[in-house]
Amino acid sequence: MGENWFQREFMVPRRLAFNVLFYGLHIGIFAYGWWSQATNLKLAGLNTLKFSVWASRGAGLVLALDGGLILLPMLRNILRIIRPKLTWLFPADENIWFHRQVAYSMAFWAMVHTTAHYVNFINVEITQIRKQTALQIHYTQPGGITGHFMLLIMLLMYTTAHAKIRKECFEAFWYTHHLAFFFMLGLYTHATGCFVRDSVEPDLISTFPFYSTEHCLGYLSWRFIIWPGIIYFGERVWREIRARRATRLSKVLIHPSGAMELRITKPSFKYTPGQWLFLQVPELSKFQWHPFTITSAPEDPYVSVHIRQVGDFTNALGERLGVGPSVVAQMTKAAVKGYEKDEKNGFTRGDFVEVDPAMTSITLPQVRIDGPYGAPAEDVFANEVAVLIGAGIGVTPFASILKHIWYRQKKGKLGSLRRVEFIWVCRDAPSFGWFQTLLAEVEAAQADPNFLRINIYLTQKINEDMLWNIAVNDAGADYDPLTLLRSRTMFGRPDWNSIYGRIKSAIESGQYVPGSSSQLKTRVGTYFCGPSVLAKAIKKATEVNTDANVEFSFAKEHF
Ligand SMILES: Cc1cc2nc3c(=O)[nH]c(=O)nc-3n(C[C@H](O)[C@H](O)[C@H](O)COP(=O)(O)OP(=O)(O)OC[C@H]3O[C@@H](n4cnc5c(N)ncnc54)[C@H](O)[C@@H]3O)c2cc1C
Repeated sequence: MGENWFQREFMVPRRLAFNVLFYGLHIGIFAYGWWSQATNLKLAGLNTLKFSVWASRGAGLVLALDGGLILLPMLRNILRIIRPKLTWLFPADENIWFHRQVAYSMAFWAMVHTTAHYVNFINVEITQIRKQTALQIHYTQPGGITGHFMLLIMLLMYTTAHAKIRKECFEAFWYTHHLAFFFMLGLYTHATGCFVRDSVEPDLISTFPFYSTEHCLGYLSWRFIIWPGIIYFGERVWREIRARRATRLSKVLIHPSGAMELRITKPSFKYTPGQWLFLQVPELSKFQWHPFTITSAPEDPYVSVHIRQVGDFTNALGERLGVGPSVVAQMTKAAVKGYEKDEKNGFTRGDFVEVDPAMTSITLPQVRIDGPYGAPAEDVFANEVAVLIGAGIGVTPFASILKHIWYRQKKGKLGSLRRVEFIWVCRDAPSFGWFQTLLAEVEAAQADPNFLRINIYLTQKINEDMLWNIAVNDAGADYDPLTLLRSRTMFGRPDWNSIYGRIKSAIESGQYVPGSSSQLKTRVGTYFCGPSVLAKAIKKATEVNTDANVEFSFAKEHF
């Protein structure tokens, strides 16, 4: 029986450890905030409000902590640098997941803090421990103003961050999330009204921080939590400067599946395989940066990305390059029909069309790139066997990794790596056009046909026409009629358990990894990019098949 949501989120050992630490820390800080308010004799006046003031102060301190934590996983450049050294401590690739956990926690503690403060303010008005009404505290004092302002921003940010909105209208999420700048300003200045004080009136002064720390007895937490904000701001400025360095779109190739390959020259841009970048085309939008996986290898003289046309930005880019959705639809149709390898003209379905500014009226637009980000796939070389699995568009990071393996193979620098299984699960035949040329090149370059095995699965139901074409063209041909590769396409969904079972048996029988010693455990690393449902099934198969001789590991590329 599969594990349920609760077991998955809370009971898996890594998650359990995280939850105990994360929520333990939050409850501890809440208790400390509560206790330090309740026992502070200077604040005896406020303490007459009892539980509500203790709860509001405890929750306020937790919110300060979260306000500092929430930006840490978004320090992309710093994460990229420290990631390799700290993978043992925390999963740096789960940064967005962590960002979301902090956001959920903030939503909860904001409710506690606000409710407790509402009670506080009503009780201040009733008891008149200060000569103010609840409405005055709410709407005329800095704490009340910044608090309500932050709640409004949270409402906008949380609703537009919902997965459905991000999918339907990413821009709504993207632009609204920039309100975080004002939220942070609100957070850092929330205590300036001196609500927590031992004096009758707020003890405001004319020099920074504009309230006396002698009588205003807040936690002064802004002094600590402002640092992630400053560093994040610095990163954004640095990204802007870096993105402005000389960049030129040197070539555009249109693959038969309709994918646009942009080849960009930027000498200052250094990356490793498996990473991604942000792309901006100022002519289309001065504000939008879209993430794309790098498909070239560091050894290539250019940086390339493969772009599928799926929405406003990518369609506009297609139109700008003269290959909008209608042209792509025609190309795809032709690609589906072109099962045969055209020996006479040398044209195959895998061939691409180059947008050559010299031949057409199209000039290539100016582009800017920012990055690289994400996990480098260098640890592929630490395994004896690497299983690279891409589903649909999830194949993109493997283009770079496969090319890089190929370059290192040529230099004889493969590290521990003895074999590579590349598995590509594709829904429909036209998608093969994406990397056909690349795969054909890599396949043809193999001196040892066993080093790299390409396994392609087509999951789409095939119609009669297609079946007929395959039957006619497959008979006795050296290449697969669908992919035009030497490896044959398999139909239907892969059975992961049997794939891993076969790899394990072959390793154990000593036939699979040349020169491996039976005394040593063979490490088989799986690198996957694609939908989570598939990730779960593959991960399970790696776990089930791990034994004393073969250790399967699983890593999901984040996309
Ligand atoms: C790390 C990463 C790597 C990616 N690599 C590739 C790649 O190699 N090739 C490729 O074709 N696509 C890739 N994508 C997806 C690509 O970023 C979106 O297809 C593109 O931004 C769509 O923009 P749009 O305005 O044309 O479409 P929209 O209609 O605005 O969006 C279509 C889909 O793309 C998502 N999306 C839109 N804008 C962004 C954005 N700025 N950041 C993240 N997601 C967005 C939306 O959630 C939606 O599901 C990658 C995404 C990520 C996060």
